[in-house]
Amino acid sequence: MFWEKDIETCSRGRLEEMQLERLKKAVDYCYENVGFYKNKLDDAGIKGEHIKHLDDIEKIPFTTKEDFRDNYPYGLLARPMRDIVRIHATSGTTGKPTVAGYTKNDIDMWATVMARIVVMSGASNEDVAQIAFGYGLFTGALGLHYALEKIGAGILPMSSGNTEKQLMLMKDFGSTILVATPSYALYMGESARELGYTPEDFKLRIGLLGSEPCSEEARKKIEQLWGIDVYDNYGMCELIGPGVSGECLHKNGMHINEDHFLPELINPETKKRLKSGKGELVITAMTKEALPLLRYRTKDITELNYNECECGRTLARMSKITGRSDDMLKIKGVNVFPSQIESVLLSIPNIAPHYQIVLTTENYYDKIEIKVEFSDAGLLERYSDLEKLQELISYKLKSSIGIDIKVSLVAPKSLERFMGKAKRIEDLRKK
Ligand code: ZN
Repeated sequence: MFWEKDIETCSRGRLEEMQLERLKKAVDYCYENVGFYKNKLDDAGIKGEHIKHLDDIEKIPFTTKEDFRDNYPYGLLARPMRDIVRIHATSGTTGKPTVAGYTKNDIDMWATVMARIVVMSGASNEDVAQIAFGYGLFTGALGLHYALEKIGAGILPMSSGNTEKQLMLMKDFGSTILVATPSYALYMGESARELGYTPEDFKLRIGLLGSEPCSEEARKKIEQLWGIDVYDNYGMCELIGPGVSGECLHKNGMHINEDHFLPELINPETKKRLKSGKGELVITAMTKEALPLLRYRTKDITELNYNECECGRTLARMSKITGRSDDMLKIKGVNVFPSQIESVLLSIPNIAPHYQIVLTTENYYDKIEIKVEFSDAGLLERYSDLEKLQELISYKLKSSIGIDIKVSLVAPKSLERFMGKAKRIEDLRKK
């Protein structure tokens, strides 16, 4: 199923022509309308006319999260406030939030790219979509809301929290799509069991989960728990919100809406472009009116695949985010991504998909401890089994990551549950 088949299956040659033209325009548009870019592009000596091939993008300076902070709140906007119809912002857990503005055309473009994504995961006007993302400044809820409405699905704008009511209405209203974070989908699934619901009580068939990384193992847990198909999608407030990319029925990478978001990969340390392999995703938002962005460093680590997909789409695919270059933990000289730890944990039976990573300093050395919930309360009475499980987890972590990690098993349901983005890392190290 396609929303805009023409673009989604267009030839690489035609797509690149379109990208080149849009990239040139974006450079000139940024130069003419955003003081920050005028200065940057003047320093680099670059104008749209210098972009002759897509590879010339290398000559354009990067944009970073710090640039948002330095130009807070409206310094990066290319349009006057009279043209702005919506403002979103990140939660800004540290300091000022990152601010994004949208014109009316931006909102239309957003709904369109997001509509492609929900349709590619099988959503249609027959569906009832329960949106359990928090509504508000956060882009997730309204991003999915506009897209699902655009394709004609019925929207149930629940927002997050109030789990018992979510479940009651999910049953009574016959919701077929759940929009939530993976952690909340897990929590809701567990609560449903505790409250005595059975899978037959629900008509749910699709989970459109996002806003935090979801490992392949976490996806499988959620799919089993609910008996549904779960699809990942990707985006961020700076770029537009969700809508940059999403998975098709083959669940083999997220198709990037490349006609609007031009992707590149770089080595985060040398900042050089990579032709293959894993790297930091850099996106140029070529068509946004209010907040165009040139070479935005997302800090997310991924891989790009330009082969045509079995679904018929030619749009490049990005692999699941395997970590963020600034989330990477350096422990005893080894680079560790929390997602690696999650993958190991969730591949082991008898463990609940809930864990916490605690980092401390001991005798000037980093120490890492992982608290993991076991799922079978009966283990509490079989101490030797518990010990065996603990040893198995330590062994698997060591062989996959290469360092000794202390593992503490904790009783079922003793770790915190999250209704929004999960906070699984507690960094108590002395800086
Ligand atoms: Zn596909």
